[in-house]
Amino acid sequence: MNHPSIRLYIDGAFVDGRGALRLEVRNPADGVLLTDYAAADDADLRAAVAAAARGFAVWSRKLALERFRIITAATALIRERAAAIARILTLEQGKPLAEALREVQLSADIIDFLAEEAKRLAARGVPPRTAGVLSQTVQRVPIGPVAAFTPWNFPANLPARKIGGALAAGCSLILKPDEQVPGTCLEFVRAFHDAGLPPGVLNVVLGHPPHISSTLIAEPAIAKISFTGSVPVGKQLGELAARHMKRYTAELGGHAPVVVCADADAQAVARLAVVAKFRNAGQVCASPVRLLVQRARLDAFRDAFVAGTQALKVGDGLAEGTNFGPLVNERRLALMQQLVDDALACGGRLLCGGRRIERPGWFYAPTVIEGAPERARLQSEEPFGPIALLDAFDDLDEAIARANALPYGLAAYAFTRDLATAHRLGQELQAGMVGINHFGVSQPETPFGGVKESGIGHESGLEGLLGCTELKLVSVAAP
Ligand code: NAD
Repeated sequence: MNHPSIRLYIDGAFVDGRGALRLEVRNPADGVLLTDYAAADDADLRAAVAAAARGFAVWSRKLALERFRIITAATALIRERAAAIARILTLEQGKPLAEALREVQLSADIIDFLAEEAKRLAARGVPPRTAGVLSQTVQRVPIGPVAAFTPWNFPANLPARKIGGALAAGCSLILKPDEQVPGTCLEFVRAFHDAGLPPGVLNVVLGHPPHISSTLIAEPAIAKISFTGSVPVGKQLGELAARHMKRYTAELGGHAPVVVCADADAQAVARLAVVAKFRNAGQVCASPVRLLVQRARLDAFRDAFVAGTQALKVGDGLAEGTNFGPLVNERRLALMQQLVDDALACGGRLLCGGRRIERPGWFYAPTVIEGAPERARLQSEEPFGPIALLDAFDDLDEAIARANALPYGLAAYAFTRDLATAHRLGQELQAGMVGINHFGVSQPETPFGGVKESGIGHESGLEGLLGCTELKLVSVAAP
């Protein structure tokens, strides 16, 4: 089966980019070229901005119910086409097909939830303090055309959060998915196209990311910027957004701690932690990184965690039974090796993995390192890959202090059977999302976002919708 051709989507039409730059899409499982395509040039970007401005004028005036009908017609098509979309996702990004299929289905659920919430966005009436004022309502209105940027690790889910939030709220959107994995997002867009979304409401551009973002952020018609990616790029876009007084949502990196108390079932937690850590080969912003285990249970946890890690079935995501696929590109292999070599040189002990797997494609062995000292880069730099750090702690104060020691604050996890300890950890772990006794903190219905340098604002949940709205007071006096 031929890989679908990659085009831009502007003003309701799939069009070839007019830029001189050509970009490649490769299969990370074998490095083979799937397709190449032309980037957007400045005229394409201007066309997308003009289309988004027209699209906003049309879409923002529709009733939430009308928007709901079109959006859910699109998600019905996404569900019908889920198997084919998941195959594209695995080919471009590498994750196991079953994970890709779940991601596509969950993405449809995220969009549906946001469209559903938009139907019940209530205005607030405030009693007037002046005679003759008939009503004062605080309304939630669509913020305007949004420019959004997503990375490569969840090619369906991350675009779905941007599309769902913006479109449900009545905004138009210019989305720039990651250039290495554009096919999944374009299939989502095709579903919206086929469901009758008016032209200009949703637009997709691809090209040189810094050029596209600096161009779009400076455009007066663009009201809001939404970025998912690393902390350094998130800060750069935040500076640009501030310069142009644009609203800004940033979903950035994490370095999640897992506090395993001595009263938890260490072996059961280790089994859960293997799945959470190595899902999508660890290329997950909320992925557990620092496994802090109370000393009495360290041996039991270590044995079970390493055994589970070594039992992972490494392979092409399309092959039956694979639960650990390749990294997204070759550069990430080199980064993993640098981080591991540094941790070992600092005195960390390699328990398993620690090297590239000799086979075609970009596979890095699932890796566990124990006792890497604080000065090791891995203790403070986000690996965003299949590396787990194991360390012992003695008392809870120490574990909480270590968990909170980094500038990241996306997700944190803890395991205990003690109710008071669970409450304390829920209160004191500094993260936007804290999972106690499980790892499931990302749901369509709940807000996803970080504190500290992990980001500003939220996506998914009611808050994902509110982030695409602006407050407006309308006060009406008798004429
Ligand atoms: P990155 O910031 O370098 O790139 C992320 C995306 O932004 C890519 O698609 C890239 O092409 C694009 N990009 C890069 N520079 C840009 C610019 N100047 N303007 C616009 N777009 C630009 O990060 P990466 O290492 O490729 O991606 C992984 C990062 O994303 C990790 O830090 C991870 O934690 C984070 N992430 C966060 C979330 C979240 O919801 N908090 C979700 C997924 C990934």
